Amino acid sequence: MHRRHLLNLILASAAFALPFGVGATQISNARLWRSDDKLRLVFDLSGPVRYKTFSLSAPERLIIDLSGANLSGDFSQLALGDTVIRSIRSGHFGMGDTRIVLDLSGPVQLNSFLLPPQDGQGHRLVLDLKTAAPLHIAAAPAVAVDKAHPKRDIIVVVDPGHGGKDPGAVGAKGEREKDVVLSIAQLLAKRLKREKGFDVKLVRNDDFFVPLRKRVEIARKHNADMFISVHADAAPRLTASGASVYCLSEGGATSATARFMAQRENGADLLGASRLLNLKDKDPMLAGVILDMSMNATLAASLQLGSTVLGSLAGITTLHQKRVEQAGFAVLKSPDVPSILVETGFISNARDSQRLVTTRHQQAVADGLFEGLQRYFQKNPPVNSYLAWQLEQKKAQV
Ligand SMILES: [Zn+2]
Repeated sequence: MHRRHLLNLILASAAFALPFGVGATQISNARLWRSDDKLRLVFDLSGPVRYKTFSLSAPERLIIDLSGANLSGDFSQLALGDTVIRSIRSGHFGMGDTRIVLDLSGPVQLNSFLLPPQDGQGHRLVLDLKTAAPLHIAAAPAVAVDKAHPKRDIIVVVDPGHGGKDPGAVGAKGEREKDVVLSIAQLLAKRLKREKGFDVKLVRNDDFFVPLRKRVEIARKHNADMFISVHADAAPRLTASGASVYCLSEGGATSATARFMAQRENGADLLGASRLLNLKDKDPMLAGVILDMSMNATLAASLQLGSTVLGSLAGITTLHQKRVEQAGFAVLKSPDVPSILVETGFISNARDSQRLVTTRHQQAVADGLFEGLQRYFQKNPPVNSYLAWQLEQKKAQV
């Protein structure tokens, strides 16, 4: 049972072009035009934005969420008169985002788009509202009425390993891990974007280096519901092949983590604990990523997530390990972001790397990862998420 018609999710095409850390865009002004069949509302912006719109009924409202945008103008001067818009409200929403709510006198058909600077005008967000014909077919059941559920998106932070000066593993024919994992991560992000109820942030969307600490900071900054690091590494044994999924282990205890941290700070060997040497041989970055995730991870959730994802990958690629692998260090306190690290295959294996560089296989892996994430979240919908709301609706109707 889908109620997609209630929500019309629109993502700006520029979504993936925006790097992290872009300063907040100002919404400086709003203008209004009327014609016979439509009403045009234009927001003047200081730069490009990502936005989503959706509508709610009873009463009719149109909601516009602008990511990383602040309101510096006000809408009080707009002559709403006898338009379909009764009033405009706005407020902060999420982290540095702005929500604009149009209270409507009836349902509308929305066409929205962004305009780049042109003819002396700056960036603009244009909303064309057409009054929909009052075509009331059978009234929707009461459960479809919005009950002010926040219905927030599940935020997935996708971390393509390595990048820039760090190519990651390099295959026999020069295949580079950093390129393969970026493609897979981008395809996964695209898939997540298409799915209502999900939002996604890429740690990098191009070939540049991101320090380890920064990767985890990004997940925290965006209040991620999960963090997935995508890799495709090398092994000294060239026959090693297939995918694996890593998360943390409670074994190894805090002391191992502490020892590791101390050694890293001292510039000593990356990994001191003998249980971790295995990881280090594969990919020092991998070990580090897992370690940093451990600062902030829920082990049980990560394990469950990991095994769901592994299950999905099983249909797409051979598995190097049939179980979720755990690195031997402690999960520290204040857990909040379930985190996994996926080895999509071995660049060092001729057969794996041959497949990993093809768009077809990259897409299959991305789809597998998506399916695993989706299944996990359907079983464990975060509080206040759209998915949680959707499941409540389904239950209410049974
Ligand atoms: Zn790697």
